[in-house]
Amino acid sequence: MTTLYENYIDGRFVPADATTAIDVHNPANHALLARIPTASSDEVNAAVDAARRAQPGWERLPAIQRAAHLKAIAAKVRQNKERLAEIITREQGKVLGLARVEVDFTADYMDYMAEWARRIEGEILQSDRPGETIFVHRKPIGVTVGILPWNFPFFLIARKMAPALITGNTIVVKPSEETPINAFEFARLVAEAGLPAGVFNLVGGRGADVGASLCTHPDVGLISFTGSVATGSTIMQAAGRNLTRVNLELGGKAPAIVLASADLDLAAKAVVDSRVINTGQVCNCAERVYVEKSVADAFTSKVRTLMAATRYGDPLAEPDVHMGPLVNQIGLDKVAAMVNRAREQGAEVILGGRVADRPTGFHYEPTVITGCSADMEIMRKEIFGPVLPIQTVDSLDEAIALANDSEYGLTSSIFTRDLNAAMQACRELRFGETYVNREHFEAMQGFHAGRRKSGIGGADGKHGLYEYTETHVVYMQN
Ligand code: NAD
Repeated sequence: MTTLYENYIDGRFVPADATTAIDVHNPANHALLARIPTASSDEVNAAVDAARRAQPGWERLPAIQRAAHLKAIAAKVRQNKERLAEIITREQGKVLGLARVEVDFTADYMDYMAEWARRIEGEILQSDRPGETIFVHRKPIGVTVGILPWNFPFFLIARKMAPALITGNTIVVKPSEETPINAFEFARLVAEAGLPAGVFNLVGGRGADVGASLCTHPDVGLISFTGSVATGSTIMQAAGRNLTRVNLELGGKAPAIVLASADLDLAAKAVVDSRVINTGQVCNCAERVYVEKSVADAFTSKVRTLMAATRYGDPLAEPDVHMGPLVNQIGLDKVAAMVNRAREQGAEVILGGRVADRPTGFHYEPTVITGCSADMEIMRKEIFGPVLPIQTVDSLDEAIALANDSEYGLTSSIFTRDLNAAMQACRELRFGETYVNREHFEAMQGFHAGRRKSGIGGADGKHGLYEYTETHVVYMQN
Protein backbone atom coordinates (compact mmCIF):
# COMPACT_ATOMS: atom_id res chain seq x y z
CA MET A 1 0.00 0.00 0.00
CA THR A 2 1.21 3.52 -0.78
CA THR A 3 2.58 5.36 2.27
CA LEU A 4 0.61 8.42 3.35
CA TYR A 5 2.98 10.66 5.32
CA GLU A 6 1.87 12.89 8.21
CA ASN A 7 2.65 16.49 9.12
CA TYR A 8 5.01 16.87 12.07
CA ILE A 9 3.65 19.53 14.42
CA ASP A 10 4.61 20.24 18.03
CA GLY A 11 6.65 17.06 18.36
CA ARG A 12 4.08 14.62 17.02
CA PHE A 13 2.82 13.26 13.72
CA VAL A 14 -0.72 14.39 12.94
CA PRO A 15 -3.10 11.96 11.14
CA ALA A 16 -3.35 13.04 7.49
CA ASP A 17 -6.48 13.73 5.45
CA ALA A 18 -6.20 11.33 2.47
CA THR A 19 -8.73 13.30 0.42
CA THR A 20 -6.37 16.28 0.04
CA ALA A 21 -3.11 14.31 -0.15
CA ILE A 22 -0.63 14.92 -2.99
CA ASP A 23 0.86 12.06 -5.04
CA VAL A 24 4.64 11.95 -5.46
CA HIS A 25 6.10 10.23 -8.53
CA ASN A 26 9.50 9.01 -9.70
CA PRO A 27 10.60 11.27 -12.60
CA ALA A 28 12.60 8.40 -14.14
CA ASN A 29 9.70 5.94 -14.54
CA HIS A 30 6.56 7.78 -13.32
CA ALA A 31 5.86 5.22 -10.55
CA LEU A 32 3.77 6.46 -7.63
CA LEU A 33 6.12 6.61 -4.62
CA ALA A 34 4.06 7.99 -1.74
CA ARG A 35 1.43 10.53 -0.79
CA ILE A 36 1.99 13.58 1.38
CA PRO A 37 -0.57 15.61 3.29
CA THR A 38 -1.79 19.08 2.44
CA ALA A 39 -1.77 20.97 5.72
CA SER A 40 -5.11 22.60 6.50
CA SER A 41 -5.14 26.23 7.62
CA ASP A 42 -5.68 24.98 11.19
CA GLU A 43 -2.58 22.80 10.86
CA VAL A 44 -0.52 25.68 9.46
CA ASN A 45 -1.62 27.81 12.41
CA ALA A 46 -0.88 24.97 14.84
CA ALA A 47 2.64 24.57 13.43
CA VAL A 48 3.43 28.28 13.73
CA ASP A 49 1.85 28.35 17.19
CA ALA A 50 3.94 25.37 18.32
CA ALA A 51 7.08 27.08 17.02
CA ARG A 52 6.09 30.32 18.79
CA ARG A 53 5.48 28.58 22.13
CA ALA A 54 8.67 26.51 21.94
CA GLN A 55 10.94 29.41 21.00
CA PRO A 56 11.58 31.15 24.36
CA GLY A 57 12.59 27.88 26.06
CA TRP A 58 14.79 26.93 23.10
CA GLU A 59 16.47 30.36 23.16
CA ARG A 60 17.13 30.00 26.92
CA LEU A 61 19.03 26.74 26.38
CA PRO A 62 22.77 27.46 26.23
CA ALA A 63 23.88 27.48 22.58
CA ILE A 64 26.18 24.52 23.24
CA GLN A 65 23.12 22.44 24.21
CA ARG A 66 21.27 23.53 21.09
CA ALA A 67 24.39 22.42 19.20
CA ALA A 68 24.22 18.98 20.81
CA HIS A 69 20.70 18.54 19.40
CA LEU A 70 21.89 19.47 15.90
CA LYS A 71 24.79 17.02 16.18
CA ALA A 72 22.41 14.26 17.32
CA ILE A 73 20.28 14.83 14.22
CA ALA A 74 23.40 14.88 12.02
CA ALA A 75 24.40 11.49 13.49
CA LYS A 76 20.94 10.08 12.67
CA VAL A 77 21.28 11.37 9.11
CA ARG A 78 24.64 9.62 8.73
CA GLN A 79 23.26 6.35 10.13
CA ASN A 80 20.50 6.46 7.48
CA LYS A 81 22.70 7.63 4.61
CA GLU A 82 22.02 4.90 2.05
CA ARG A 83 18.27 4.84 2.64
CA LEU A 84 18.00 8.64 2.43
CA ALA A 85 20.17 8.80 -0.71
CA GLU A 86 17.92 6.27 -2.45
CA ILE A 87 14.83 8.22 -1.47
CA ILE A 88 16.32 11.44 -2.86
CA THR A 89 17.31 9.75 -6.12
CA ARG A 90 13.94 8.07 -6.48
CA GLU A 91 11.84 11.21 -6.05
CA GLN A 92 14.15 13.86 -7.53
CA GLY A 93 16.08 11.99 -10.22
CA LYS A 94 19.70 12.88 -9.34
CA VAL A 95 22.29 10.11 -9.61
CA LEU A 96 22.92 8.07 -6.48
CA GLY A 97 26.51 9.30 -6.05
CA LEU A 98 25.31 12.89 -5.91
CA ALA A 99 22.45 11.97 -3.55
CA ARG A 100 25.04 10.41 -1.22
CA VAL A 101 27.08 13.62 -1.39
CA GLU A 102 23.91 15.57 -0.57
CA VAL A 103 23.24 13.44 2.52
CA ASP A 104 26.86 13.72 3.74
CA PHE A 105 26.88 17.46 3.09
CA THR A 106 23.64 17.85 5.04
CA ALA A 107 25.07 16.10 8.11
CA ASP A 108 28.35 18.02 7.82
CA TYR A 109 26.42 21.27 7.50
CA MET A 110 24.54 20.60 10.73
CA ASP A 111 27.82 19.88 12.49
CA TYR A 112 29.39 23.00 10.99
CA MET A 113 26.55 25.24 12.18
CA ALA A 114 26.62 23.51 15.59
CA GLU A 115 30.28 24.54 15.87
CA TRP A 116 29.18 28.20 15.91
CA ALA A 117 27.66 27.67 19.36
CA ARG A 118 30.60 29.25 21.20
CA ARG A 119 31.27 31.82 18.50
CA ILE A 120 28.02 33.82 18.22
CA GLU A 121 29.32 37.17 19.40
CA GLY A 122 28.02 40.65 20.10
CA GLU A 123 29.91 43.94 20.56
CA ILE A 124 30.69 46.37 23.36
CA LEU A 125 30.81 50.02 22.27
CA GLN A 126 32.31 53.15 23.84
CA SER A 127 29.64 55.48 25.21
CA ASP A 128 29.68 59.30 25.02
CA ARG A 129 28.47 59.39 28.63
CA PRO A 130 30.47 58.71 31.77
CA GLY A 131 29.69 55.43 33.54
CA GLU A 132 27.84 53.95 30.57
CA THR A 133 28.51 50.82 28.49
CA ILE A 134 26.74 50.02 25.23
CA PHE A 135 26.19 46.35 24.38
CA VAL A 136 25.12 45.06 20.94
CA HIS A 137 23.50 41.66 21.41
CA ARG A 138 22.65 39.25 18.61
CA LYS A 139 19.25 37.74 19.35
CA PRO A 140 17.10 35.19 17.55
CA ILE A 141 14.28 36.55 15.40
CA GLY A 142 11.70 34.09 16.77
CA VAL A 143 9.67 31.86 14.47
CA THR A 144 11.25 31.26 11.07
CA VAL A 145 9.75 29.58 8.02
CA GLY A 146 11.80 27.57 5.50
CA ILE A 147 10.28 27.09 2.05
CA LEU A 148 12.24 24.65 -0.06
CA PRO A 149 12.82 23.90 -3.76
CA TRP A 150 13.15 20.44 -5.26
CA ASN A 151 16.69 20.45 -6.68
CA PHE A 152 18.68 19.85 -3.45
CA PRO A 153 15.67 19.16 -1.25
CA PHE A 154 17.42 17.40 1.62
CA PHE A 155 20.39 19.76 1.97
CA LEU A 156 18.10 22.79 1.88
CA ILE A 157 16.38 21.56 5.07
CA ALA A 158 19.73 21.84 6.89
CA ARG A 159 20.68 25.10 5.19
CA LYS A 160 17.61 26.70 6.75
CA MET A 161 17.13 24.72 9.95
CA ALA A 162 20.71 24.60 11.26
CA PRO A 163 21.45 28.36 11.34
CA ALA A 164 17.92 29.04 12.59
CA LEU A 165 18.19 26.61 15.50
CA ILE A 166 21.75 27.32 16.60
CA THR A 167 20.91 31.02 16.96
CA GLY A 168 17.84 30.22 19.09
CA ASN A 169 15.00 30.40 16.56
CA THR A 170 12.41 27.73 15.92
CA ILE A 171 11.27 26.73 12.42
CA VAL A 172 8.37 25.53 10.30
CA VAL A 173 9.55 23.88 7.07
CA LYS A 174 7.51 23.36 3.91
CA PRO A 175 9.20 21.11 1.34
CA SER A 176 8.53 21.28 -2.39
CA GLU A 177 5.51 19.24 -3.43
CA GLU A 178 7.76 17.67 -6.12
CA THR A 179 10.24 16.14 -3.65
CA PRO A 180 8.77 16.03 -0.13
CA ILE A 181 9.39 12.40 0.90
CA ASN A 182 12.96 13.00 2.09
CA ALA A 183 11.71 15.83 4.35
CA PHE A 184 9.02 13.64 5.94
CA GLU A 185 11.65 10.94 6.52
CA PHE A 186 13.89 13.61 8.04
CA ALA A 187 11.08 14.56 10.47
CA ARG A 188 11.09 10.95 11.69
CA LEU A 189 14.80 11.26 12.47
CA VAL A 190 14.22 14.56 14.28
CA ALA A 191 11.57 12.86 16.41
CA GLU A 192 13.93 9.95 17.18
CA ALA A 193 16.76 12.35 18.08
CA GLY A 194 14.67 13.91 20.84
CA LEU A 195 14.53 17.56 19.75
CA PRO A 196 12.14 19.46 22.08
CA ALA A 197 8.56 19.63 20.74
CA GLY A 198 7.75 22.61 18.51
CA VAL A 199 11.37 23.53 17.68
CA PHE A 200 11.14 21.89 14.24
CA ASN A 201 7.80 21.47 12.46
CA LEU A 202 7.09 20.15 8.98
CA VAL A 203 3.96 20.79 6.91
CA GLY A 204 3.21 19.48 3.43
CA GLY A 205 1.25 21.13 0.67
CA ARG A 206 1.35 23.32 -2.38
CA GLY A 207 2.99 26.70 -2.51
CA ALA A 208 -0.05 28.72 -3.47
CA ASP A 209 -2.03 27.70 -0.37
CA VAL A 210 0.17 26.23 2.40
CA GLY A 211 3.27 28.22 1.40
CA ALA A 212 1.25 31.42 1.03
CA SER A 213 -0.45 30.92 4.44
CA LEU A 214 2.95 30.56 6.12
CA CYS A 215 4.24 33.70 4.40
CA THR A 216 1.33 35.84 5.58
CA HIS A 217 1.21 34.54 9.15
CA PRO A 218 1.67 37.46 11.57
CA ASP A 219 3.74 35.42 14.05
CA VAL A 220 6.46 34.56 11.54
CA GLY A 221 9.60 36.69 11.90
CA LEU A 222 11.64 35.49 8.92
CA ILE A 223 10.78 33.69 5.70
CA SER A 224 13.81 31.90 4.29
CA PHE A 225 12.97 30.88 0.75
CA THR A 226 14.89 29.09 -1.99
CA GLY A 227 13.25 28.76 -5.38
CA SER A 228 12.34 30.67 -8.52
CA VAL A 229 12.45 34.43 -9.04
CA ALA A 230 8.69 34.52 -9.70
CA THR A 231 7.84 32.82 -6.40
CA GLY A 232 10.44 34.90 -4.54
CA SER A 233 8.77 38.05 -5.80
CA THR A 234 5.31 36.77 -4.75
CA ILE A 235 6.65 35.88 -1.30
CA MET A 236 8.25 39.27 -0.87
CA GLN A 237 4.94 40.94 -1.65
CA ALA A 238 3.11 38.64 0.78
CA ALA A 239 5.73 39.34 3.46
CA GLY A 240 5.06 43.04 3.03
CA ARG A 241 1.69 42.61 4.69
CA ASN A 242 3.28 42.07 8.13
CA LEU A 243 6.70 43.52 7.25
CA THR A 244 8.17 40.05 7.76
CA ARG A 245 11.87 39.71 6.98
CA VAL A 246 12.78 37.72 3.87
CA ASN A 247 15.88 35.81 2.87
CA LEU A 248 15.59 34.90 -0.81
CA GLU A 249 17.86 32.49 -2.70
CA LEU A 250 16.59 32.60 -6.26
CA GLY A 251 17.55 31.64 -9.78
CA GLY A 252 20.77 32.15 -11.68
CA LYS A 253 22.23 32.45 -15.16
CA ALA A 254 25.89 31.92 -14.33
CA PRO A 255 28.39 33.04 -16.99
CA ALA A 256 31.63 31.11 -17.53
CA ILE A 257 34.36 33.14 -19.25
CA VAL A 258 37.03 31.13 -21.09
CA LEU A 259 40.05 33.13 -22.28
CA ALA A 260 42.77 32.17 -24.76
CA SER A 261 45.13 31.98 -21.76
CA ALA A 262 43.05 29.21 -20.13
CA ASP A 263 43.96 25.58 -19.64
CA LEU A 264 41.31 24.49 -22.15
CA ASP A 265 41.08 20.89 -20.92
CA LEU A 266 40.45 22.08 -17.38
CA ALA A 267 37.96 24.72 -18.55
CA ALA A 268 35.99 22.30 -20.73
CA LYS A 269 35.80 19.69 -17.97
CA ALA A 270 34.79 22.21 -15.29
CA VAL A 271 32.11 23.79 -17.47
CA VAL A 272 30.68 20.42 -18.55
CA ASP A 273 30.75 19.07 -14.98
CA SER A 274 28.91 22.20 -13.88
CA ARG A 275 26.28 21.66 -16.56
CA VAL A 276 25.75 17.95 -16.12
CA ILE A 277 25.54 17.81 -12.34
CA ASN A 278 21.94 17.24 -11.24
CA THR A 279 21.00 17.30 -14.96
CA GLY A 280 21.74 21.01 -15.11
CA GLN A 281 19.21 21.81 -12.40
CA VAL A 282 21.49 23.80 -10.09
CA CYS A 283 21.08 27.50 -9.36
CA ASN A 284 24.80 28.24 -9.63
CA CYS A 285 25.97 25.98 -12.47
CA ALA A 286 27.42 27.35 -15.72
CA GLU A 287 24.42 28.45 -17.81
CA ARG A 288 26.21 30.44 -20.56
CA VAL A 289 29.77 30.47 -21.89
CA TYR A 290 31.77 33.38 -23.33
CA VAL A 291 34.88 32.04 -25.07
CA GLU A 292 37.62 34.10 -26.71
CA LYS A 293 37.50 33.77 -30.49
CA SER A 294 41.04 32.43 -31.00
CA VAL A 295 40.32 29.32 -28.88
CA ALA A 296 36.59 28.98 -29.57
CA ASP A 297 36.90 26.02 -31.98
CA ALA A 298 39.33 24.09 -29.78
CA PHE A 299 37.30 24.69 -26.64
CA THR A 300 33.96 23.90 -28.27
CA SER A 301 35.30 20.65 -29.67
CA LYS A 302 36.47 19.55 -26.20
CA VAL A 303 33.10 20.49 -24.69
CA ARG A 304 31.25 18.60 -27.41
CA THR A 305 33.34 15.47 -26.83
CA LEU A 306 32.73 15.53 -23.07
CA MET A 307 29.01 16.26 -23.40
CA ALA A 308 28.64 13.50 -26.01
CA ALA A 309 30.20 11.04 -23.53
CA THR A 310 27.60 11.91 -20.89
CA ARG A 311 25.42 8.86 -20.20
CA TYR A 312 21.90 9.42 -18.98
CA GLY A 313 19.05 7.24 -17.80
CA ASP A 314 17.14 5.98 -14.77
CA PRO A 315 19.73 6.37 -11.98
CA LEU A 316 18.50 3.42 -9.90
CA ALA A 317 17.96 1.01 -12.80
CA GLU A 318 21.14 2.06 -14.68
CA PRO A 319 23.66 2.83 -11.94
CA ASP A 320 26.54 3.99 -14.18
CA VAL A 321 24.75 7.02 -15.65
CA HIS A 322 26.09 10.57 -15.18
CA MET A 323 22.67 12.20 -15.36
CA GLY A 324 19.12 11.33 -14.42
CA PRO A 325 15.88 12.79 -15.78
CA LEU A 326 14.62 16.33 -15.35
CA VAL A 327 12.30 16.69 -12.39
CA ASN A 328 8.96 16.83 -14.24
CA GLN A 329 7.14 17.31 -17.55
CA ILE A 330 7.02 21.08 -17.07
CA GLY A 331 10.81 21.22 -16.71
CA LEU A 332 11.29 19.02 -19.80
CA ASP A 333 8.87 21.08 -21.92
CA LYS A 334 10.56 24.30 -20.83
CA VAL A 335 14.04 23.09 -21.82
CA ALA A 336 12.80 21.71 -25.16
CA ALA A 337 10.98 24.96 -26.00
CA MET A 338 14.02 27.10 -25.14
CA VAL A 339 16.31 25.04 -27.40
CA ASN A 340 13.77 25.23 -30.23
CA ARG A 341 13.53 29.01 -29.88
CA ALA A 342 17.37 29.25 -29.89
CA ARG A 343 17.35 27.34 -33.23
CA GLU A 344 14.70 29.68 -34.62
CA GLN A 345 16.78 32.66 -33.55
CA GLY A 346 19.74 31.37 -35.56
CA ALA A 347 21.88 29.43 -33.06
CA GLU A 348 23.40 26.10 -34.12
CA VAL A 349 22.72 22.96 -32.11
CA ILE A 350 25.95 20.95 -32.52
CA LEU A 351 25.00 18.16 -30.10
CA GLY A 352 21.69 16.83 -28.80
CA GLY A 353 18.82 19.27 -28.94
CA ARG A 354 15.99 16.76 -28.50
CA VAL A 355 13.83 15.12 -25.89
CA ALA A 356 15.44 11.70 -25.40
CA ASP A 357 13.85 8.82 -27.27
CA ARG A 358 13.06 6.64 -24.24
CA PRO A 359 9.81 4.99 -23.15
CA THR A 360 9.72 6.67 -19.73
CA GLY A 361 11.37 9.48 -17.81
CA PHE A 362 11.75 13.21 -18.40
CA HIS A 363 15.09 12.87 -20.18
CA TYR A 364 16.68 15.51 -22.41
CA GLU A 365 19.79 14.86 -24.48
CA PRO A 366 23.06 16.55 -23.42
CA THR A 367 23.09 19.57 -25.70
CA VAL A 368 25.67 22.08 -26.95
CA ILE A 369 24.63 25.22 -28.83
CA THR A 370 27.03 27.55 -30.66
CA GLY A 371 26.62 30.81 -32.57
CA CYS A 372 24.71 32.35 -29.68
CA SER A 373 24.33 36.09 -29.27
CA ALA A 374 23.48 38.35 -26.36
CA ASP A 375 19.89 39.01 -27.41
CA MET A 376 18.90 35.30 -27.50
CA GLU A 377 16.63 33.98 -24.76
CA ILE A 378 18.98 30.99 -24.28
CA MET A 379 21.72 33.45 -23.14
CA ARG A 380 19.40 35.45 -20.88
CA LYS A 381 16.90 33.12 -19.13
CA GLU A 382 17.61 30.27 -16.73
CA ILE A 383 17.52 26.96 -18.67
CA PHE A 384 17.75 24.48 -15.77
CA GLY A 385 18.66 21.54 -17.97
CA PRO A 386 21.69 19.87 -19.63
CA VAL A 387 22.07 22.52 -22.32
CA LEU A 388 25.20 24.61 -22.81
CA PRO A 389 24.97 27.73 -25.02
CA ILE A 390 28.29 29.23 -26.19
CA GLN A 391 29.01 32.73 -27.51
CA THR A 392 32.37 33.90 -28.86
CA VAL A 393 33.90 37.20 -27.72
CA ASP A 394 36.85 39.35 -28.82
CA SER A 395 38.17 40.31 -25.41
CA LEU A 396 37.93 40.00 -21.65
CA ASP A 397 36.26 43.44 -21.50
CA GLU A 398 33.52 42.27 -23.85
CA ALA A 399 33.03 39.03 -21.87
CA ILE A 400 32.71 40.89 -18.57
CA ALA A 401 30.25 43.40 -20.05
CA LEU A 402 28.08 40.58 -21.46
CA ALA A 403 28.29 38.60 -18.21
CA ASN A 404 27.15 41.61 -16.16
CA ASP A 405 24.32 42.45 -18.55
CA SER A 406 21.90 40.07 -16.80
CA GLU A 407 18.94 40.28 -14.47
CA TYR A 408 20.62 37.50 -12.45
CA GLY A 409 23.69 37.88 -10.24
CA LEU A 410 24.36 34.67 -8.34
CA THR A 411 27.55 33.00 -9.58
CA SER A 412 30.15 33.45 -12.32
CA SER A 413 33.47 31.94 -13.34
CA ILE A 414 36.61 32.68 -15.32
CA PHE A 415 39.19 30.33 -16.78
CA THR A 416 42.64 31.83 -17.43
CA ARG A 417 46.30 31.41 -16.45
CA ASP A 418 46.81 35.17 -16.69
CA LEU A 419 46.77 36.59 -13.17
CA ASN A 420 45.95 40.12 -14.35
CA ALA A 421 42.94 38.89 -16.30
CA ALA A 422 41.69 36.89 -13.31
CA MET A 423 42.11 39.88 -11.02
CA GLN A 424 40.29 42.18 -13.45
CA ALA A 425 37.38 39.74 -13.66
CA CYS A 426 37.17 39.47 -9.86
CA ARG A 427 37.08 43.28 -9.62
CA GLU A 428 34.51 43.84 -12.34
CA LEU A 429 32.12 40.86 -12.32
CA ARG A 430 28.99 41.93 -10.43
CA PHE A 431 27.99 38.60 -8.92
CA GLY A 432 27.72 37.14 -5.44
CA GLU A 433 30.37 34.51 -6.28
CA THR A 434 33.19 34.11 -8.80
CA TYR A 435 35.04 30.82 -9.32
CA VAL A 436 38.51 31.03 -10.88
CA ASN A 437 39.71 27.94 -12.76
CA ARG A 438 37.22 25.57 -11.14
CA GLU A 439 33.67 24.33 -11.43
CA HIS A 440 30.82 26.26 -9.80
CA PHE A 441 30.04 24.81 -6.38
CA GLU A 442 30.06 26.70 -3.11
CA ALA A 443 31.54 25.84 0.32
CA MET A 444 29.55 25.84 3.56
CA GLN A 445 31.92 28.39 5.14
CA GLY A 446 31.45 30.85 2.24
CA PHE A 447 28.43 33.08 1.69
CA HIS A 448 26.03 32.07 -1.06
CA ALA A 449 24.19 35.26 -1.96
CA GLY A 450 22.71 36.53 -5.19
CA ARG A 451 22.57 40.06 -6.54
CA ARG A 452 19.79 41.66 -8.60
CA LYS A 453 16.94 39.16 -9.17
CA SER A 454 19.00 36.25 -7.79
CA GLY A 455 17.98 37.16 -4.29
CA ILE A 456 18.22 39.13 -1.10
CA GLY A 457 20.51 38.08 1.73
CA GLY A 458 22.35 34.79 1.58
CA ALA A 459 23.25 31.51 3.24
CA ASP A 460 26.28 29.76 4.78
CA GLY A 461 29.21 30.81 6.90
CA LYS A 462 29.21 33.60 9.46
CA HIS A 463 27.23 35.98 7.27
CA GLY A 464 24.55 33.36 6.62
CA LEU A 465 24.33 32.57 10.32
CA TYR A 466 23.72 36.20 11.23
CA GLU A 467 20.82 36.40 8.77
CA TYR A 468 18.90 34.49 11.46
CA THR A 469 19.59 37.07 14.16
CA GLU A 470 18.60 40.62 14.93
CA THR A 471 20.41 43.14 17.07
CA HIS A 472 19.39 44.39 20.49
CA VAL A 473 21.37 47.36 21.78
CA VAL A 474 21.51 47.87 25.54
CA TYR A 475 22.67 51.18 27.09
CA MET A 476 23.84 50.33 30.63
CA GLN A 477 24.28 53.32 32.94
CA ASN A 478 25.80 52.63 36.34
P1 NAD B 1 9.50 27.27 -7.03
O1 NAD B 1 9.61 28.73 -6.84
O2 NAD B 1 8.57 26.76 -8.05
O3 NAD B 1 9.07 26.54 -5.67
C1 NAD B 1 9.86 26.62 -4.51
C2 NAD B 1 8.97 26.45 -3.28
O4 NAD B 1 8.08 27.55 -3.19
C3 NAD B 1 8.09 25.20 -3.28
O5 NAD B 1 8.12 24.64 -1.98
C4 NAD B 1 6.71 25.76 -3.60
O6 NAD B 1 5.66 24.97 -3.08
C5 NAD B 1 6.78 27.09 -2.90
N1 NAD B 1 5.82 28.11 -3.37
C6 NAD B 1 5.30 28.26 -4.61
N2 NAD B 1 4.45 29.32 -4.64
C7 NAD B 1 4.45 29.85 -3.39
C8 NAD B 1 3.80 30.96 -2.79
N3 NAD B 1 2.95 31.74 -3.47
N4 NAD B 1 4.03 31.23 -1.50
C9 NAD B 1 4.89 30.45 -0.78
N5 NAD B 1 5.53 29.38 -1.29
C10 NAD B 1 5.34 29.09 -2.59
O7 NAD B 1 11.00 26.79 -7.31
P2 NAD B 1 11.50 25.32 -7.70
O8 NAD B 1 11.07 25.07 -9.10
O9 NAD B 1 11.16 24.36 -6.63
O10 NAD B 1 13.10 25.50 -7.65
C11 NAD B 1 13.87 25.83 -8.75
C12 NAD B 1 14.37 27.25 -8.66
O11 NAD B 1 15.08 27.41 -7.43
C13 NAD B 1 15.35 27.61 -9.74
O12 NAD B 1 15.06 28.89 -10.26
C14 NAD B 1 16.70 27.64 -9.02
O13 NAD B 1 17.65 28.48 -9.62
C15 NAD B 1 16.30 28.10 -7.67
N6 NAD B 1 17.30 27.71 -6.66
C16 NAD B 1 18.09 28.68 -6.11
C17 NAD B 1 19.06 28.35 -5.19
C18 NAD B 1 19.95 29.40 -4.58
O14 NAD B 1 20.66 29.08 -3.63
N7 NAD B 1 19.93 30.64 -5.06
C19 NAD B 1 19.22 27.01 -4.80
C20 NAD B 1 18.41 26.04 -5.36
C21 NAD B 1 17.43 26.42 -6.30
